[in-house]
Amino acid sequence: MQSQPDHDHDHDACIADALDAAETICAERNARLTPNRRRVLELIWDSHGVVSAYDILAELQKEDPSAKPPTVYRALDFLMGLGLVHRIESNNGFTRCEAPLRHRVCQFLICDGCGLVEELHSRPLFDNLAAQATALGFQPEYQTVEVHGRCARCASA
Ligand SMILES: [Zn+2]
Ligand SMILES: [Zn+2]
Ligand SMILES: [Zn+2]
Repeated sequence: MQSQPDHDHDHDACIADALDAAETICAERNARLTPNRRRVLELIWDSHGVVSAYDILAELQKEDPSAKPPTVYRALDFLMGLGLVHRIESNNGFTRCEAPLRHRVCQFLICDGCGLVEELHSRPLFDNLAAQATALGFQPEYQTVEVHGRCARCASA
């Protein structure tokens, strides 16, 4: 796994809350959080950073040597479909959503020091970018905004 962000909170409780919230979201939508999907979500919540599909597969194979890449990708598709997980393109991996289904737009702040990923949900930023694209005759379909830098903790260290 990648470098872990420092935690000044009870991360076990954090993971437990996230898994409870995921169970609720799945139940409301008649979707099944199978043990495999739940385990993948748990592995992504292992940190507040980015986890690669390869790392997830490696962990699953420690527990079940027959785990294969499609096992991971199907679980990731399911979790992304429910808004529980976000893809982080620039780090070629996945991160947890801290506010599943409670935001329409999302931008990411990615710390290159500790790996922490934070979410912004700025509608004005989204609309501004879309308007500038549209002004050029471009028809935007989706946006990926990933800002790399230093988190508050790393910046002050
Ligand atoms: Zn945590
Ligand atoms: Zn999110
Ligand atoms: Zn940091």
